[in-house]
Amino acid sequence: MQILRLEALLDNYIFLLYDRQKNIAVVVDPAEAEPVLKKLYELGLKLVAIFNTHHHWDHVGGNKELIRKFPEVKVYGGAEDRGRIPGQQVFLQEGARVEFAQRVAETIFVPGHTRAHIAYYFPPQNLGEAGELFCGDTLFAGGCGRLFEGTPKQMMESLDKLRRLPENTRVWCAHEYTLKNLQFALTVDGENPDLQQRYREVKALRSRQEATVPSLLGIEKRTNPFLRWEQPALQLATNTKDPVQTFARLREMKDRF
Ligand SMILES: [Zn+2]
Repeated sequence: MQILRLEALLDNYIFLLYDRQKNIAVVVDPAEAEPVLKKLYELGLKLVAIFNTHHHWDHVGGNKELIRKFPEVKVYGGAEDRGRIPGQQVFLQEGARVEFAQRVAETIFVPGHTRAHIAYYFPPQNLGEAGELFCGDTLFAGGCGRLFEGTPKQMMESLDKLRRLPENTRVWCAHEYTLKNLQFALTVDGENPDLQQRYREVKALRSRQEATVPSLLGIEKRTNPFLRWEQPALQLATNTKDPVQTFARLREMKDRF
């Protein structure tokens, strides 16, 4: 399975997964159709499925046009998103498996950003290889999604599920928000040397307009404040030792940042 990252709208990423042997492709969260169609034609691929993580327009905006161009395409999304994702035919529950290119993705239910949000996780094929996590607007590089339809506790539990995946998991999040996320992270966890180093690296990448996605889960665990609610520095910054309160206050502080 090959993975391509396509830029869309202002700062969205669309991911194109493809199978070179069969010349078929799956698209994750097509914010718009045009960049997807362009790449499919360029590589001579047939689109067979759309994997949506949640119903927001900047993740499903391309669904209709892609279905028009590829009428046989199958549209996957979370079971709770019924009625909100254009063309949805497959309603995935926690643990449901989806096959593509000899790989099997597991559905992880991650409510918080929206009440129906899911992530797609492809475990590594062989020992020592990376797994692939498509997590939409739940976990970002250096941050997490806003709480539109969920509580801090729900989001924390969702992020905790993702945090338990192997460290060598590539995190394919749907927006290029990393620099701003790390600027916030430094205000609450500024003494963290891993964070300081990551900030320097990301700043350099962005100054050359290079992407910071995918990141690695191990790096997220060491630098992303929204996976680090037990850390004394973050408890200090939020003035509480209660994990849910720590997380909730971090999210509020980030909303105002
Ligand atoms: Zn969203």
